[in-house]
Order: sequence, then structure tokens, then C-alpha cells
Amino acid sequence: MLCLGVGLSSSVADLIARSRAFASKGVPDHFHDAMYWKTIDAETVQCELCPRGCTLSEGQRGFCRVREPRSGKLYTAAYGAVCAAHVDPIEKKPLFHFLPGSTAFSIATAGCNFRCKSCQNWQISQVRPEDVKNTPMSPRQIVDAALRSGSQTIAYTYTDPAIFYEYMLDTAKEVKAAGLRNMCHSNGSLNPEAVEEISLYLDAANIDLKGFTQEYYSGFAAGYLDTVLETLERLKRNKVWLEVTTLVVPTMNDDTGTIRKMCEWFSEHLGVDVPLHFSRFWPQYKLANLYPTPVETLEKARETALSAGLRYVYIGNVPGHPAENTYCHACKAPVIRRSGYTILANEVRNGKCAFCGADIPGVWK
Ligand code: SF4
Repeated sequence: MLCLGVGLSSSVADLIARSRAFASKGVPDHFHDAMYWKTIDAETVQCELCPRGCTLSEGQRGFCRVREPRSGKLYTAAYGAVCAAHVDPIEKKPLFHFLPGSTAFSIATAGCNFRCKSCQNWQISQVRPEDVKNTPMSPRQIVDAALRSGSQTIAYTYTDPAIFYEYMLDTAKEVKAAGLRNMCHSNGSLNPEAVEEISLYLDAANIDLKGFTQEYYSGFAAGYLDTVLETLERLKRNKVWLEVTTLVVPTMNDDTGTIRKMCEWFSEHLGVDVPLHFSRFWPQYKLANLYPTPVETLEKARETALSAGLRYVYIGNVPGHPAENTYCHACKAPVIRRSGYTILANEVRNGKCAFCGADIPGVWK
């Protein structure tokens, strides 16, 4: 495993001194041109990357803590500022129907456009890029590191890749040119034009569908449900291999009626072959006083999804649970057996079940 280190690096005094230095120099050296924004007036711009649509004046940072205007132009502070890099099993993303048993060279920069109360990476997602230790890496250096690690895929993950969009896009182009694959794990909160553009280079995505009411999205994540649903449909339409994760948080989004509505929408708009992962919540960050999701709650959610017609429904964060396996929708045989992130057996042959020959949807080679 390669780890570039994650941690707070600066005292408050350092940061104040640095921001004064920035102001005196105009555009800081680490800033990079941002995409997707428009001019409001000489000193104000509006960011159009995500649905929050921050209107920002000179020196003001966006909600994501990454994008900032200088002299009437919008910049990103996240470009090339890698704060985490690891070689992970693709199953950890999670992608269960995409090159099983392979690894993904996984990167993040600091910042996020959500405020999830149970964020497991809050030390890097809820800070500015300037607040953590970074290793500068060009897109080409990412590709070289991925090749050295033997990974077939580069994963944009840990924080939300929406906020390092320009870096993800440039890297994704290099990755494709090198014959490797791209995947992202995202909250899906990105405006349609940006989704269209990155879709050209994405091979796979795991998008969080955190719940199925705007009330929950507002209270839990400070996010927008409609945009996430639109992103899911758009990625599916653009033939990006899609899997979806729902973190089931006890007492907050575990209502069976709402999960049923979500699964009915899922079946109708994404289809029954898109895998859905119900993931177990573990107490942390702002929900440290809540209890872990009971396994029975996850099993009930899975039964609800199966009864809505979904064919590939998994339970995550419960190592050894039988719902980690992939079962053929036709003969019900376990075609891929897993324990945690480890593949115990893979009986998918050329995209088909080795037992009955039915197609198993996914990217297998
Ligand atoms: S990407 Fe950041 S700056 Fe842009 S609208 Fe979203 S939160 Fe605001």
C-alpha cells in the first residue's frame, strides 16, 4: 500500500501568514484555472460546477473549500494536490461487477461539497487543500504510479471528486491514453454538463444514493437529491458501468416505506441489473453517539430491494455476510463468493454464469 500521508500540517498563524502572502501576490502559485463558472460582475463570479451555485467575491472560498475567485476569474486550489493515495482492491470502492480481484490506484484531494454527518474521511473532506499535507502529482505521474502498482484502474475517491473536477478530467484523459480505466466514487452532486464531459472518460462509477427524501439530504449531508438522481440516470444513459451505495443509518434513513420507494425508482429509472450496496453505518464523526446499523435492518432493506425486482443487492461492512456474494439471477448459484474485499471464487466465464450460462452484467475483462 502506498500512502502519501494525511494530516493537518499548519498552525493557524502559518495559515494567516500564508493567506496574506497569497493576497499580496495576486493569484497563488498553487491555483489552477477552474472550469464551469460565469462572471456576475467585475469582482463576482458564480461557480456552475455543482448545484450549490456559490456566488463568490474576490478571495472568498466556495462551500467546498476549494474554489476561489481572483481578479474576476475562478480558480481551484485542489489541482494536483494529492492528500491521499492508496492501492485498494476494486471491491473496496465498492465495485463488485467490474474487474473483480483487480486493484485501483486511488487518489483524493482535500475538500467536499457535502457535509455528511458520518463522513469517515472528514479530516481531509472538511478542510481546505492548504490545511493538509499534499504531494504534488501531475496527471502523468498518477498514471506512472498506477502502472508501477500494477493497478488496472485509477479511482477518484475518499473525498468527493466533484471538487477536484479539473484534475480528475485531465488525469482521466491521460489514463485512457495509457490504456488504463477510470472510476469515481462520488456523491453525484455535479451539474449535467460536467457529468456529460467526465462520462466520456469514465469506465465505472459508484454513486452514493444517501436516502430518498430531500429532507434527509438536507439534514444529513447538506446536499440535493434531485441532482443525484439526474446524475445516476445520466451515467447509466452514457454507458458508464454504474453501481450505487446507500449507507443505512439507524433511525435516520432506515424506514422501509422510503427504501421501497427508492428501490421502485431505481428499478424503473436505472434498471434491475444495476448493483445496489446497502452499507452498514458505524458510529463516527458527528454521529459518534449513534449505534451501528443492526444487521437485520440491512437484511430487511435488501429483501425490500429484491422484492422490487433488483437482481444484485449487496450488504457492505459486514464481513462474511452471505450478501457479499454475487448470485446468478437465473439459477441463484453464487457466481462470485467474497469475504470482505477478498474474492474466494469467481465462476463468471466470459460474462456468463458458469453454472447455467445466464448473462451476468458487468465489466469482466
Ligand atoms: S463546486 Fe464548490 S464553489 Fe462550486 S458551486 Fe459547488 S460548492 Fe460552490
